[in-house]
Amino acid sequence: MSDREFDLAIVGAGPAGLTAALYAGRNLMKAVVLEAKGPGGQLLNTELIEDYPGLKSVLGGDLAAVMVDQATSFGTEIATASVEKIHVDEDGNKVITTDDGEFRAPAVLITAGGNPRKLDVPGEIEYAGRGVSYCAVCDGAFFKDQHLAVIGGGDAAVEEALFLTRYASKVTLIHRRDEFRAQAVMLEELRSHPKVEIILNTVVDSIEGDGKVTHMMLSNAQTGEKSKLEVGGIFIFVGFIPNTQLVDTHVDHDAAGYYNVDPQTMMTNIPGIFAAGDVRAQLTRQITTAVGDATTATIAAGKWVEEFRKQHSKLEAGA
Ligand code: NAP
Repeated sequence: MSDREFDLAIVGAGPAGLTAALYAGRNLMKAVVLEAKGPGGQLLNTELIEDYPGLKSVLGGDLAAVMVDQATSFGTEIATASVEKIHVDEDGNKVITTDDGEFRAPAVLITAGGNPRKLDVPGEIEYAGRGVSYCAVCDGAFFKDQHLAVIGGGDAAVEEALFLTRYASKVTLIHRRDEFRAQAVMLEELRSHPKVEIILNTVVDSIEGDGKVTHMMLSNAQTGEKSKLEVGGIFIFVGFIPNTQLVDTHVDHDAAGYYNVDPQTMMTNIPGIFAAGDVRAQLTRQITTAVGDATTATIAAGKWVEEFRKQHSKLEAGA
């Protein structure tokens, strides 16, 4: 095998990718993790984690550092490379094109996560980085003693709104419905927080300012009534768009673009292409589910590669 040929290529080094690296290393597979930025994924944008069993409370960056150390200690290499395309060649091997050349492996595990969904309202792009943010941990400290708005009703919005209370004078959470997707325990904490106001059934019409955000225009989704809310910053958490555009052939996915996989193995409909973590269709996306998926996927990929190689050597022997 050349130094660019592997048993398994893992795309992305978030919790799923790092778990896969750990299991592949312990399984004595020759594996590489291809990661465009630093390893850690969304852990690096997360402050405190309290729902990872065994660690009562841990900082996202600290958990990422331990995961990287543990994964690489069993021999899996983490390469800095941005994946541009994954192609299945005529033998069923996968060719992974990156900004640092090509890598080859019979099996690929996609753990590439995704990017925050945009609200898609006037002013959002114009004021990005000038009052509009998608990361409370990264930007919260810039908004000390200001009135902040958080948009969304999922776990991310509720969790990040709570986080922002440590800096903001007031946090107004704006949700388009009156029911939340967020976990009840976090929602309860948010509701009882003295700095928090929750506005329901309300959508954002526009984000406005004078070089930086000063206010937003809102509409009540039921009555159509318009209102203006003066804020110093707007944090948008309205979901996630999975990075599922890399394979140059059709891979089965759901309506939102998340890969459909076989739950027994995490394999997609393309033999040898597996998916784990936030790129796969499932009820919820937690760190725990990402590491669980990746464990299953890596063990399944190991067995699949063994079988793939057996079939190929039979074919070669018969040729
Ligand atoms: P999510 O669960 O999909 O929630 C997105 C929220 O944004 C929903 O409340 C949705 O409203 C709202 N929304 C979507 N488009 C909108 C628009 N155009 N205008 C206004 N509101 C809009 O996404 P998430 O909160 O980013 O979470 C993603 C996944 O990560 C979830 O599976 C979540 O459980 C997980 N996660 C877990 C944790 C944790 O456990 N600690 C933390 C963060 C994220 P509707 O409800 O009306 O659709």
